[in-house]
Amino acid sequence: MTAGERERIAFIDPLAAEPETASSILAGTGVLLVALDADGRIVHFNNACEKATGYSRAEIIGEPLWNRLLVPEQVDGVKRVFSDLVDAPGPKEHENYWVAKNDRRICIHWFNTSVREAGGRVRWVIGAGLDITEKKKAQLELEEHAARLRAIVETAVEGIITIDEDGTIESVNPAAERLFGYSAGSLLGQNITMLMPPPHNEKHDRYMERYMRTGEARIIGIGREVTGLRKDGTVFPMELAISDVVLPDRRLFTGIVRDISERRTAEKRERQRLAEHAHAARLAALGEMASGIAHELNQPLTAIVSFADACRNLLEKPDVPKRVTLDALNQISEQGVRAGNIIRRLRNFVKTGSLDREIINLNAVISDVMAMVSHEIHMNEVDIELKLGDYLPGVWADKLQIEQVVLNIVRNAIEAMETSSVRRLVLKTSKRDDQVLVYVSDSGCGFSGESDQLFQAFYTTKEKGTGLGLSISHTIIEAHGGELTATADDSGATFSFSLPIVEAFY
Ligand code: ADP
Repeated sequence: MTAGERERIAFIDPLAAEPETASSILAGTGVLLVALDADGRIVHFNNACEKATGYSRAEIIGEPLWNRLLVPEQVDGVKRVFSDLVDAPGPKEHENYWVAKNDRRICIHWFNTSVREAGGRVRWVIGAGLDITEKKKAQLELEEHAARLRAIVETAVEGIITIDEDGTIESVNPAAERLFGYSAGSLLGQNITMLMPPPHNEKHDRYMERYMRTGEARIIGIGREVTGLRKDGTVFPMELAISDVVLPDRRLFTGIVRDISERRTAEKRERQRLAEHAHAARLAALGEMASGIAHELNQPLTAIVSFADACRNLLEKPDVPKRVTLDALNQISEQGVRAGNIIRRLRNFVKTGSLDREIINLNAVISDVMAMVSHEIHMNEVDIELKLGDYLPGVWADKLQIEQVVLNIVRNAIEAMETSSVRRLVLKTSKRDDQVLVYVSDSGCGFSGESDQLFQAFYTTKEKGTGLGLSISHTIIEAHGGELTATADDSGATFSFSLPIVEAFY
């Protein structure tokens, strides 16, 4: 009951007012006024009561209240209120239903009191009431709506979290508990940043502050992919949609969170499948290229044969100067080098068919490769720094192929530093989670644009390049379940790859 409603009926001082007087005071206010004698029989029933119930005074006066007007299941409750008022004067507020003549139920909020005779005997129990049927209906509807909403939130597959303006968690649903691995109890009252991995957790306060100040939204009302942090420390990709709820006195933010780890894994599988297709396509391209190379080889070989024939003829003619024969021999030699170069291009092709795997240590692979390129390193005056991780776990891989990858990356790095004044090559290995990582950083020319293009077959910026080394390396690393990436900055480029650790060994 509102303060206004209370005021409307609280002014009746039943001790001073007879029910009739009170009735005439209340006429027109809509307040229901009923008076019962000490036995609960109706002695007064005002116009508002007649209007609300459809019963006339003549029909009702003299009847116990509980005969006709009450809902059967509430009779006992009302009798209890009545006997309490007989025992003590009240006032007592009470809410119950009356049944009108046409069976309509009316919800009434009563303000009850008892009037006593000089000797203390109860004379009347008086109830002043307001018809709150509509209000009650709206309230019930609201409660039902809230219950329905609660059921949806409780059973939703998505995690639903509500926070206040300071980022304090106000509510979480069971899906959010499951998703992040915390119980609701340990989340409520905490800051939402506990569910975010660095660096987002540190940026969150600033983001909220800016949003509140400028209304500029980056996630709110937009939805995007972010990362979440579980209780066990794992970081997972999730889709987050946030809505801003503006209440009269404050603001709330509701976040709906969906774990998309599985989707990401499926996408990765799909990427791998595409990579395999791409590999098949590369093989087809190689076939074409091989026939092109055969064609190219044909020219120097034909030239060699004809220069050799010419030499034979020249040797048979004693008066031909030596210089002419030497020229022809030089031509043979040049054409031989040309053919050699063409064949060298073929050498870069690797076959990524079935893998011949064994447990290998990447530190050992790096040492072997460094021995292979020691001559080039020496010739190019490259400074080497090895930062090989201690106790590096083994990986399950094809040694030759991984050697090929490291060799390729290292050779590329040496080539990239050809014109650099500082030539420094850093090779680093480390373990992270369930992977071993290899980094090769150089102080070379670097590259601009997307690193993806470097991994495309036949992409090369070198005059004599094939553009196949990195694309094949990429395929090899992916076939091993790892990832090859490249980054570049002002000081050079870094190529890194990961390989999964052999489980029994870590
Ligand atoms: P190739 O070396 O035969 O051209 P790759 O597949 O090995 O073919 O490399 C493709 C291209 O990637 C190179 O031509 C070069 O432009 C770029 N690249 C590779 N390694 C580096 C590096 N360390 N620094 C800068 N660019 C590089």
